[in-house]
Amino acid sequence: MIYADNAATTKMSRVAIDAMVNCMENIWGNPSSLYEFGQKAKEAITSAREKIAACINAEPNEIYFTSGGSESDNQAIISAAKVGAKKNKRHIISTAFEHHAVLHTLKKLEAEGFEIELLDVHENGVITPAQVENAIRKDTCLVTIMFANNEIGTIQPIAEIGAICRAKKVPFHTDAVQAAGHINIDVQKLNVDALSISAHKFHGAKGVGVLYARKNFQLTNIIEGGAQEKGKRAGTENVPAIVAMAAALDDACKNLDANNKKVLALREKLIDGLNKIPYSILNGDRKKRLPGNVNFCFEGIEGESLLLLLDDKNICASSGSACTSGSLDPSHVLLAIGRVHEVAHGSLRLSIDENNTEDDVEKIISAVAEVVEYLRNMSPLWKDKLNGKKNFILEA
Ligand SMILES: *Cc1c(COP(=O)(O)O)cnc(C)c1O
Repeated sequence: MIYADNAATTKMSRVAIDAMVNCMENIWGNPSSLYEFGQKAKEAITSAREKIAACINAEPNEIYFTSGGSESDNQAIISAAKVGAKKNKRHIISTAFEHHAVLHTLKKLEAEGFEIELLDVHENGVITPAQVENAIRKDTCLVTIMFANNEIGTIQPIAEIGAICRAKKVPFHTDAVQAAGHINIDVQKLNVDALSISAHKFHGAKGVGVLYARKNFQLTNIIEGGAQEKGKRAGTENVPAIVAMAAALDDACKNLDANNKKVLALREKLIDGLNKIPYSILNGDRKKRLPGNVNFCFEGIEGESLLLLLDDKNICASSGSACTSGSLDPSHVLLAIGRVHEVAHGSLRLSIDENNTEDDVEKIISAVAEVVEYLRNMSPLWKDKLNGKKNFILEA
């Protein structure tokens, strides 16, 4: 099998699995228990908190453990909205191509009377700091803009946006789920007030994540109960998953440069190879993107058929967000960067990592070329294009 869907989830790393198993076997007490065996679990959490804080240049007491990226996004956004509403500030700025964990939370707030302004994304999949600056108003209570897009991998100018927000005293949250463990994160340099992370996107376990919240960023607990996480997130901690997440992030950060060098070379080769397929287009800026992300549209192709035929060849890929697959709507991300419906339907996301090889990349290129040609040959619409009865949208 060739796994090229690391943006959907990653395989747990050896260090993470070992840390998790050790914890399940030896440190399974309740961290809230007062006896020594429970306190051992508490110590494991404390040490994981310190490790994660060090990876992103935060203070340990600014790290809150959650059930993953979705919960972190929800908590950050709802918290800022609650604080804003108290001051009669109900304007929130975001972008049209956020993850649904952000977009759906904003939709809910809109129904509660908040005004949501979604910035347009440029065709290259990047928004500009000036767009944010122009959108900020006196009643803006939050700017939330993703660090790296989960479908097209484009990286946003977070540090510049953060500087603007700080100057205007508007809280700034970023969904860094695709960025963490893959590109460097320094919450000081980025000028962010809150930042979401999910372990299973960097070789940790599923169902665990982090919300980084700077001391001035007031959190509202969205899960009521015990006093865990300073009363901001109730529920007995998922100790094995938390410990494994710290091990995975630490490992990813230590190997970041070496991994990226390897992955970048593979990505460039993959893009060059797929670019040779006629009537194809790379989605998102070629340079301002995650090292492992490749996303193409192929005219005249239906993304789901492409995926199923690639699956027959043992290649795991995606048409975009795993959350939208199964629905027939084209990706909101591709529509946001201006792809027309007909082209957006034919999308393919390949997200590779350091475990992939040159051989994988060569096999992917030839498999995609073959499948695209096969599907086009079967299509009456494609024949109409070839004999001039219909126009092509993309250039050959
Ligand atoms: C995967 C993902 C999420 C959701 O994270 P979960 O841990 O699966 O809840 C949120 N935002 C982005 C950008 C993602 O890629």
